[in-house]
Amino acid sequence: MLESKNFKKINKEIYTSINDVIKKGQFILGKEVRYFEEKLASCLGSKYAIGVNTGTDALFYSLKALNIGIGDEVITTPFSFSSTSDAIVMTGAKPVFVDIEPKTFNIDILKIESAITQKTKAIIPVYLYGQSANLSLILKIAKKHNLKIIEDVAQALGSKYKNSFLGTFGNFGCLSFFPTKNLGAFGDGGAILTNSSTSANYLRLMRIHGAKKMYYDYKFIGGSSRLHTLQAAVLQVKLRYLDWFIEQRRKIADIYYNNLQFSTFIKLPYQNPDSFHSFNYFTIRVKKKRDSLYKFLKKNNISVSIIYPKPIHLFSSYKFLGYHKGIFPEAEKAAKQVLSLPTDPYVVTERTGKKITNLIKFFLKKNELE
Ligand SMILES: *Cc1c(COP(=O)(O)O)cnc(C)c1O
Repeated sequence: MLESKNFKKINKEIYTSINDVIKKGQFILGKEVRYFEEKLASCLGSKYAIGVNTGTDALFYSLKALNIGIGDEVITTPFSFSSTSDAIVMTGAKPVFVDIEPKTFNIDILKIESAITQKTKAIIPVYLYGQSANLSLILKIAKKHNLKIIEDVAQALGSKYKNSFLGTFGNFGCLSFFPTKNLGAFGDGGAILTNSSTSANYLRLMRIHGAKKMYYDYKFIGGSSRLHTLQAAVLQVKLRYLDWFIEQRRKIADIYYNNLQFSTFIKLPYQNPDSFHSFNYFTIRVKKKRDSLYKFLKKNNISVSIIYPKPIHLFSSYKFLGYHKGIFPEAEKAAKQVLSLPTDPYVVTERTGKKITNLIKFFLKKNELE
């Protein structure tokens, strides 16, 4: 089952890798960054990977690379981390939301076309909890309307659609190495995947103020967004075990599937046959008393989370877009029902996985919800 002795081995390799960086002292864009970028790109089947500061920056700079800004519209889902639409707004463009399909929690492809206008430049599908959206159809729509695709792969690194890794289908694939993600750093980190050498060169300059030669020659105005050498040192080790980490996540998911399948009050995650789910989260729908179940599990020291309790269009920060309550019924319903069980192999062992399912069963029985 879950092999805890592996963690000791991995941690030891990480400490050695960190120590090497400290000894050399090249903390900004040290050679570990380039090494990790190359390994990451080849491991996922992309030509280039560019390390940046966060997943949010990966999205922002991808939009910039497509020259998206004031006057443009970008289609995305309201049921995501606010990062996805924040990146759009920060370029000056306008996010246009499309409701989700209830089964996968991802953007509803049947509703995308009616949201397209003359101003639409791109679509950002988000692969929530680790499962792909229906990419064949999204690619078809994008081609028909001449739109770009930026994939938000923050929760789905290592997941596949029809045998190819997510992040390699669109113009850009945006990754996050936030500690809770499938490939977690010891802090913040992100990367952009692309097959375009022009874009890769642009992004490598963009993350260092557009400087061709620092302090002498600046090609354009850019930001300061590099993947830290220390994080790259951690990530290059963890990347070697990515398959193993995901296998562990899927084993934890199996514990939940096997032990929770009999309740009618709980809906287990649907798995699209075309996609390989990495289970960044195991998100169930709880039809009644979701908040009490959440509190009950928290009280028992289980690291459950509600991802997300509110769709983005209902945030006060997004009032200016003029959306009202009820406009995206599926996203709003999901926000009331979802509960994400932990799948982090550093946190969940076989024993804790079973404990979680037993606690849920106990709760259902106590509340006569079986
Ligand atoms: C984590 C996450 C991001 C980016 O997060 P950062 O913290 O900026 O690395 C973007 N989108 C989604 C869906 C995420 O879960």
